[in-house]
Amino acid sequence: MLTGIGDQITIQNKALDIIWMNQPAKDIWGDVIDKKCYKVYKGLDVPCPDCYVETMFNEGRTVVSEQVDILPDGRRTPILVTSSPVRDAEGNIVAIVDVGKDITERKLLERKQREYAENLEKIVEKRKELEKQLKEYTENLEKIVEERTKALKESKGKLQAILTGIGDQITIQNKDLDIIWVNQPIKDIWGDVIDKKCYEVYKGLDAPCPDCYFETVFNEGKTVVSERVSVLLDGRSIPVLVTSSPVRDAEGHIVAVVEVFKDITERKLLEKKLKDYAENLEKIVEERTKALKESEEKLKAMLAGIGDQITIQNKALDIIWMNQPMKDVWGDVIGKKCYEAYKGLDERCPDCYFETVFNEGKTVISERVNILPEGRRSHILVTSSPVRDAEGSIVAIVEVAKDITERQELEQMKTQFINVAAHELRTPLSALKAHVELLEITSKNMNLPADVNRRIGIISRNAKRLAVLINNLLDYSHLEAGTIKPKMALGSLKTVAIQTVKEVFPLALKHRHILKLTTPKMLPFIYLDKEIIHRIFGNLLSNAIKYTLDGGTIDITLLEEAENLHVTVKDTGIGIAEEDLEKIFQPFHVADIPESVHFPSEFERTGLGLAITKRYVTMHGGKIWAESRIGEGSTFHMLLPKVK
Ligand code: ADP
Repeated sequence: MLTGIGDQITIQNKALDIIWMNQPAKDIWGDVIDKKCYKVYKGLDVPCPDCYVETMFNEGRTVVSEQVDILPDGRRTPILVTSSPVRDAEGNIVAIVDVGKDITERKLLERKQREYAENLEKIVEKRKELEKQLKEYTENLEKIVEERTKALKESKGKLQAILTGIGDQITIQNKDLDIIWVNQPIKDIWGDVIDKKCYEVYKGLDAPCPDCYFETVFNEGKTVVSERVSVLLDGRSIPVLVTSSPVRDAEGHIVAVVEVFKDITERKLLEKKLKDYAENLEKIVEERTKALKESEEKLKAMLAGIGDQITIQNKALDIIWMNQPMKDVWGDVIGKKCYEAYKGLDERCPDCYFETVFNEGKTVISERVNILPEGRRSHILVTSSPVRDAEGSIVAIVEVAKDITERQELEQMKTQFINVAAHELRTPLSALKAHVELLEITSKNMNLPADVNRRIGIISRNAKRLAVLINNLLDYSHLEAGTIKPKMALGSLKTVAIQTVKEVFPLALKHRHILKLTTPKMLPFIYLDKEIIHRIFGNLLSNAIKYTLDGGTIDITLLEEAENLHVTVKDTGIGIAEEDLEKIFQPFHVADIPESVHFPSEFERTGLGLAITKRYVTMHGGKIWAESRIGEGSTFHMLLPKVK
């Protein structure tokens, strides 16, 4: 029986020697009879520390224990050992039988069971956690849904407000062309049109419009923008811009079409105005271009027709245009430098005034002598003016040259004639004057009739007048002919001024004028021709006396300035009109004297004094000009350069 049992059975005696074992035990352990149990089953050299054999011998109890045996192949095997006492006939315990049950599988099962239980616990826990998460998630979801619903409601409200607020008209139609929503502006115009067909309401038709584009929007999902004419209820038709867009449901299916109508009456008007304006502009441009062309042609014809020579130079002094008269004289010299073509120079003229024209934009008038290609000298008066582009920048210089050779020759002839005539007149006049003066003196003692004396007086005065005129004429003709050469030397302007004042003093006194000379103590000497300066002062002072009514004041001032000595002769006389201020320096110009002014007939008026004076001042490198107002006296200014 014992042998047949599958469990391992071994019997140990009190000394722990194995004294019997069944086949299964032997199968595992080999025949280990007589060996110590602790050695065989545990590989120990001493009894196991928890050995219960003693207890069993003493108490005779059966002990069931779980142990781990280390098999000969090294495997550790869990064993359930039932240890029971073996008694002899007298009942004495003589040995212990161990029945060992291999519980490896049970153990495995137990472990699996345990693991399963543990897993189950984990799963339960996980589920709980999942449940919790699910709850939280659901709660969150609810919240989100709530918020979204609220937001949606708000945005719907906003959208509604926007759609309602928009001035444009908005209408929504479904696929059957029923109007399903409209905003206020539509309602304002068309009234309540919901559920009516769009073509009925907006077009007054019984069937869909022939050009209905709803298909396009519905089938292709496209937005269509079109310009149409809407006929309002009051019969007015207005141009509208219609934007038709698809309306989609949550799945993206097109369920309706929204149409936004924009009243473009104003835009259309504006477009029309713009068109009209553009057309007008075109017309104007066309007309202007024509006019420009005409005027260009006229200008060309004019420029070509002008007898004066015209040439245009650019900033680099290249000749860029010339008219026919210019070409007739110089040939076609376009592209050449002006100084090469007109002067035969390799570089610009030393007195080139182009900079002045270019930089200051001034027109310069100058007199020049040109040697023409044929060798003839020609006197020309050149007016050089800036040519500006559309922005006003100076891009070129136009020069108009007037040939004044003939005029110049005539002037010369005139001067010569005056010169000859004056000379020829002077000799008989001198004789006449001398005899009349003599007659005046002697006639006083001859008791001649008063009338004869008066006539002698008239002859004498006119002879003097004639003498003054002839002297002036001679001076002027000499000046013009360039035969007067000043004798310049360092001298005192003050001395000449004092001397002249002294000389005219009796005349001033005669007319009860106050004559004042103001001059600094020290005044530098300048280069001057004493005789000429004396004449200048004489002329200015006698004019001041002449053109000031009796009892006036004449102030002469000498002043030193940075570069000049400044002379002023100021009177309280009849004054000069503005338009005469420049002209009085031209020869033979006498300004009109108002009739109200009683001008003494004893004074000569030849209109030559200031012309001569100006030339004298110019000879000295100086300047002269007048400031005056009619009835308010005059001031003559003269600048004479100091020695540098
Ligand atoms: P005239 O012999 O005529 O005085 P001038 O050449 O000296 O010739 O002067 C030219 C003109 O200028 C005069 O005719 C006069 O009209 C005007 N004129 C000159 N000086 C004065 C002045 N001090 N006051 C007013 N007019 C003057």
